[in-house]
Amino acid sequence: MRQPLVAGNWKMNGSTESIKHLLDGIKRSLDVVSKAEVVVCPPYVYLSGVQAQLAGTAISLGSQNVSEYKAGAYTGEISTSMLLDLQCRYAIVGHSERRSIYGEKDVQVAAKFAAVRAAGIKPVLCVGEVLEEREQGVTEDVVARQLDAVIALEGVEALADGVIAYEPVWAIGTGKTASPEQAQDVHAFIRNRIARLSAVTAEKVQILYGGSVKGANAPELFSMPDIDGGLIGGASLDADEFISICQAAV
Ligand code: PEP
Repeated sequence: MRQPLVAGNWKMNGSTESIKHLLDGIKRSLDVVSKAEVVVCPPYVYLSGVQAQLAGTAISLGSQNVSEYKAGAYTGEISTSMLLDLQCRYAIVGHSERRSIYGEKDVQVAAKFAAVRAAGIKPVLCVGEVLEEREQGVTEDVVARQLDAVIALEGVEALADGVIAYEPVWAIGTGKTASPEQAQDVHAFIRNRIARLSAVTAEKVQILYGGSVKGANAPELFSMPDIDGGLIGGASLDADEFISICQAAV
């Protein structure tokens, strides 16, 4: 039985004051969400402050990105040991915005996955197709390629040390959600592809859905057999909305 997981990706949003307000709201309703693992991923500069505010709660801390390198002359980058220092349990790798805006390729994303895993942090590996690829009918090819890059580097069992997030890029921040059936089809494809190599890993690995999830559509999405929770962008910035998504995941 896989534990449901809901992770909020705050992206480049927030201030000291707004984050305190948001966390107060989420913490107030924590008892209601305690059956799902709940993770928040603030911008790097707020990780330390959020870590302090999460002390004594069951909410985990995650980062939105990380360097694949250990330390040294990598201006502007953050290492896995820095994330560990701040007690990050999760690190998102390969988010579509990193891939499309910053040009991260599958090989680099796989290296980040490996670095995060080696540090004992759980990588949240994002995969997903852009609209053109869906319209061309190559969604499965794209997702398979992104997944296989990690399997080639780390071996299939490594996936069980992390989490996969299927995020159709056309559904991110657009208000267009994949239907529960569309999402389930891709989740099942991912799980079956892993199962061909390791049935145990396929059974264990949590696969989250991401893309315009809200309190209103979360129950139907999360009722699908291969959807184990969500990676939430915009709606994770609103405490009530985020809590209602977390409630739908239990
Ligand atoms: C995301 O950025 O991972 C995401 C799913 O965003 P949104 O929920 O806003 O579509």
